[in-house]
Amino acid sequence: MTAAVAMPRLCRSAAPDSEHLPFDSMGLVKTLFPLARSLTGDGVRKTLHEIAKHIPLIIEEVPTGTSVLDWHVPKEWNIRTASIRSLSGETLVDFAESNLHVVGYSRPIRAIVSREDLAAHIYTLPEQPDVIPYRTGYYADDWGFCVQDTRWQAMQDDAYLVEIDSDLEPGHLTYGEMLVPGLSDDEILISVHICHPSLANDNLSGVAVATALARNLLATPGRMGVRFLFVPATIGAITWLAQNEATLGRIKHGLVLTCLGDAGRFHYKASRRGAEIDRTAGHVLAQSQVSSTLLPFSPYGYDERQYCSPEFDLPVGCLMRGVHGQFPEYHTSRDDCTFVTATALDESLEVVSKIVSTLQRDVFYERIDGRGEPQLGERGLYRAIAGQKEAGGASQMDLLWFLNLADGRHSLLDMAIRANTSFDRIDAAATLALQAGLVRVRIASRDPQR
Ligand code: ZN
Repeated sequence: MTAAVAMPRLCRSAAPDSEHLPFDSMGLVKTLFPLARSLTGDGVRKTLHEIAKHIPLIIEEVPTGTSVLDWHVPKEWNIRTASIRSLSGETLVDFAESNLHVVGYSRPIRAIVSREDLAAHIYTLPEQPDVIPYRTGYYADDWGFCVQDTRWQAMQDDAYLVEIDSDLEPGHLTYGEMLVPGLSDDEILISVHICHPSLANDNLSGVAVATALARNLLATPGRMGVRFLFVPATIGAITWLAQNEATLGRIKHGLVLTCLGDAGRFHYKASRRGAEIDRTAGHVLAQSQVSSTLLPFSPYGYDERQYCSPEFDLPVGCLMRGVHGQFPEYHTSRDDCTFVTATALDESLEVVSKIVSTLQRDVFYERIDGRGEPQLGERGLYRAIAGQKEAGGASQMDLLWFLNLADGRHSLLDMAIRANTSFDRIDAAATLALQAGLVRVRIASRDPQR
């Protein structure tokens, strides 16, 4: 790894004004939905300022042109209005109706255009004729509209008045970052993208779950710090990596969160290198009441592509429900606030919280005297187990497994997987054994130090 290069940047900290109010994930999705987000611009800023009402987010501004790894921070794009009108003045396509109507990063235009010429700038989905597709042209220096196919087919005039009031000028790339400090310098990374406009599942569900998780963790910090990133996809993650190269070794585990608001089964995509996060996510999902599928790493998808690029190779996986490109609402106007449900967001928050909590508590124990089985009855341990019938409590088998594997070489997660029980039950057995003076804790991480 090369040393991090100091870069010019503006930094603003925003103080939350609703830290103590109850948090409504679905409410945040609905508030953020209409904002015209893109890689850069005021839609991203407004989004981050809205999130900052709930958590103490630091909002960073990185100037256009800043060199970041093999890329440069692009020009800032802002859009005010856009429409296609008939020559008689009737508005046929209006950005005010849906911000999906304009291809992201469209350059400004005000012209009368023949239908034939306009056709080269129109994107529709004939197989889903009533939906607006989502398209971007970040580096295309072009303009375009996304329209329902039925609407486009009904537009048969010879020419139209096309107007996009946008600008693409030197400015900034904006992203948000927040650290919940831990007892050590080790960190868990949680990353979500914030660059999609009115799309609820692919974008805002991850934002809402990450915000809710950050709020909860602020109240209960753990062994490791948890760092939250709210970044525009690809260029945002690349910018953050370029700015933080010197301290990436702190990241011991990481998750990209996306598409967590639909009612489908969970999908966990493994890290490139194979890491604790993969085993932990797999175990939590297997022990949960939800259905799930584990996917191997692939160099396509979200910002795990950047975190898992070969020189960084960070232990970062991706948790989602619907998989990008594989559900019909994906990147269309159907991915709206009716597609995402509060129940699904709550379930997703529970799974993510459990993964983080398991990582935080996955320590090693060793028996103080490992010769033979200890006298459980004499120490009141049989009574303690008999009093714990609830799911979180330990059974006699959990305790026997724990006492057998507490040799300083098996973590609690190793034990839970080997005993085919839940992490929480093995952890409960550990607490009983610790209270009885049978074991001591050895805080250790299996992941090699970088
Ligand atoms: Zn997307």
